[in-house]
Amino acid sequence: MTSSDRLPSDRILVRGRVLSFKRRPHGAGDTDAYSYFEDGVVVIEAGRVIEVAEGGEIDRLGGEGIVLHDFSGKLILPGFIDTHIHFPQTQVIASYGEQLLEWLTRYTFPAESRYGDPVFAAAQARFFIDEVLRNGTTTAVCYGSMHKGSAEALLAESERRGTAMFVGKTAMDRNAPPDVLDNAQSAHDDTEALISAWHGRGRQKVVITPRFAITSTPAQLEALGSLAQAHPDCLVQTHLSENLEEIATVGRLFPDRADYLDVYDHYGLVGPKSLMGHSIHLTPREIRRMSDSGAVAVFCPTSNLFIGSGLFDYKGLEGGEHPVRIALATDVGGGTSYSMLATAAEAYKVMQLKGQKLSAIEAFHLMTRGNAEAIGEPDLGRIAAGAHADLVVLDSTATPAMAHRLAMGSSSLEEELFVLMTLGSERNVCEVFVGGRPQGVQKAIA
Ligand SMILES: [Zn+2]
Repeated sequence: MTSSDRLPSDRILVRGRVLSFKRRPHGAGDTDAYSYFEDGVVVIEAGRVIEVAEGGEIDRLGGEGIVLHDFSGKLILPGFIDTHIHFPQTQVIASYGEQLLEWLTRYTFPAESRYGDPVFAAAQARFFIDEVLRNGTTTAVCYGSMHKGSAEALLAESERRGTAMFVGKTAMDRNAPPDVLDNAQSAHDDTEALISAWHGRGRQKVVITPRFAITSTPAQLEALGSLAQAHPDCLVQTHLSENLEEIATVGRLFPDRADYLDVYDHYGLVGPKSLMGHSIHLTPREIRRMSDSGAVAVFCPTSNLFIGSGLFDYKGLEGGEHPVRIALATDVGGGTSYSMLATAAEAYKVMQLKGQKLSAIEAFHLMTRGNAEAIGEPDLGRIAAGAHADLVVLDSTATPAMAHRLAMGSSSLEEELFVLMTLGSERNVCEVFVGGRPQGVQKAIA
């Protein structure tokens, strides 16, 4: 990277191979779905993209005092967006041998109980944001622990770094150890306090977050549903139909409801702002209702494989009679990688097992613009005039194996992207820009 001297101009230029999606691709080869500059320049002012131009225009765009970050030959994409990740599970990732309900009890609840300590939570927030940025993720939709302070710690750290994070205090008032339980009233009040202090403060947003139906009483779901109705611009996140034993338990806890989704629906928690983590074992009625409501099914492939939950029916949901909106996510710590590239690789494999295909351009659309649309943020996930200048710079040849694979010659862009998602990791991330500011992530890796 070369930078000229910083003089008093707030214009920043980032040069490289610029790729950004205009719409959802209809499978491989749909080149109209994206714009691509083999030699492009992203022009940034005051944290936003002003324009994207051809590299040959650099003299027109530059000038005295303007900072140029030259990544010629590298890919520049919108920063990745992770639509489901657990902030207090960075020390739960890679825990051996259990399925969902046992995994929660044995590993997750004890780990989350520590986040009541604000000093601990603040240190963990620094690690968390370092780690997602190292992986090229500039925005994440995050579950905190049950402690309001855990959400505050992450929001404060995100504000300090300039990232856009969406964070909820996780509500849970039954079926867990006492030190991670709140109650219906405190969950409502803590979430409401977070919304008034943090929702829309700079780039930060607050998410209404019942963990899942098993750990919330009807009173708590009702309290959070009323909060969702009062704050229709807030996302709602929860878990849905991840595991068969979980679904059976929900059926016993809510015998009057038609199915799992109907539990959330009954309390006003299902709509176009709802992110339903996993959504693997849906009934036809649930699929119809997801479609009608505009709720998003969040595909978390590394987690679904690691916890042994099941195979997400991507094409069945996307292209069925009742199409469902889909997002992609890591679900760390049930998920096994912070990298959206590695997550896309596992999505491809899950879909192979279902007899389906995920093309590279569909996967990269999902990680960027697709996920931005799923969370209702049109100024994220794209590189175009007016968008936030959150960028990831990728080197497709960062490892010997990848350089060797791509050295066979005449790779198309789509082939290169497929190699990147299949073999890629944080090692491919050369740099990340947040609001136009470089984060120096490659130094952190070295
Ligand atoms: Zn989760």
